Amino acid sequence: MKILVINCGSSSLKYQLINMEDESVIAKGLCERIGIDGSKLTHQPAGKDKVEIEKDMPTHQTAIELVMDALQNPEHGVIKSTDEISAIGHRVLHGGTTYSESVVVDADVKRVIRECFDLGPLHNPANLMGIEACEAAMPGKANVAVWDTGFGMAMPEKAYMYAIPHEYYEKYGVRRYGFHGTSHMFVSGEAIKFGNLDPEKAKVIVCHLGNGASVSASIGGKCVDTSMGLTPLEGLIMGTRSGDVDPAVVQYICNKEGKDVNEVLNILNKKSGVLGMSGGVSSDFRDIEAAKSSGNHLAEVALEAFIYRVAKYIGAYTAAMNGVDAIAFTAGVGENDKSSRKAICEYLGYLGVKIDDAANDVRGKMTVISAPDSKVKIMLIPTNEELAIARETRRLTE
Ligand code: ADP
Repeated sequence: MKILVINCGSSSLKYQLINMEDESVIAKGLCERIGIDGSKLTHQPAGKDKVEIEKDMPTHQTAIELVMDALQNPEHGVIKSTDEISAIGHRVLHGGTTYSESVVVDADVKRVIRECFDLGPLHNPANLMGIEACEAAMPGKANVAVWDTGFGMAMPEKAYMYAIPHEYYEKYGVRRYGFHGTSHMFVSGEAIKFGNLDPEKAKVIVCHLGNGASVSASIGGKCVDTSMGLTPLEGLIMGTRSGDVDPAVVQYICNKEGKDVNEVLNILNKKSGVLGMSGGVSSDFRDIEAAKSSGNHLAEVALEAFIYRVAKYIGAYTAAMNGVDAIAFTAGVGENDKSSRKAICEYLGYLGVKIDDAANDVRGKMTVISAPDSKVKIMLIPTNEELAIARETRRLTE
């Protein structure tokens, strides 16, 4: 069984064709600059050279057609015909309050994706275009929507309601949704298996630390809290996002700088985080660490604040669950940066957390990095959102 996984952005389309017999990637690739001059498809068949195809892609529909051609190409293709593809799984950003579970796409699902355009203005329209392009290119095949907000929908009301007038929830669905759901679902599930934890009761905190970053707490794989909110802006300090700030900061900057709310929100999303805190050094954590090492004070503060915020969330989520069995690190920083993992864990001595420095000297590989006598299992679990989407697609279509 082969499953095609599609992740559409407003001008990009990422794909992976996965063989579900052994969960291996048969081919993957990326269409860039869809709808813009100079569009390009980079196609990587497993075990063969990468190919770059420069061709106009005015729409997601043309991008999907090019992907289909690449997958079936006599030289760099990996399948003889699209009949070999059993189903298509799509990452869809926002399912609103309607969907917590992945679903096979029908007219109702498409209506909900459309109704959530306001909640995910950059992603939901692109996700819908990707689905419709696949429907046109492969009529009759099942398309499955896997929601980035799905995991967070299990949060209890006390965790997802904002303390603002209730009418805004009623009228507009203003609540905390959480994002990176596919990653949190996958990593918490893998942590339970790898750590040999009770699948029904395990209390797991997942730290997804990449350019975008979020923490989740789950019991038996069910989310009890997660740090992103109505949008991905809430929570941790990220590459360019501020995470939690006093909302009055927005009004104050608006008044001082003569900006409107949209401009300041754009600053909080794109020019803040470690990029903003460091005085513009970079949004990339490697650059921040390098700047810190060469004595840049602001970069040092940005990194310390990032680590401190993660540790505070772990503390809060341990309280929320009345304990924690395992903490898993994932994504770019979580999988590659042993010093950040160690620095975060140094705040957790009160929980009986002990890191094993030799075990922690690892990158991108599923590993227990805590010492045998640590009261909480600390793990590195590489995330794999595409595989998670493929597994959901298989589950719903087999
Ligand atoms: P996203 O998917 O949100 O774009 P990733 O999960 O790919 O982000 O993470 C990207 C981040 O991971 C970058 O800031 C990068 O600097 C960081 N990163 C990757 N390798 C390392 C490393 N060895 N040390 C520190 N940070 C790293």
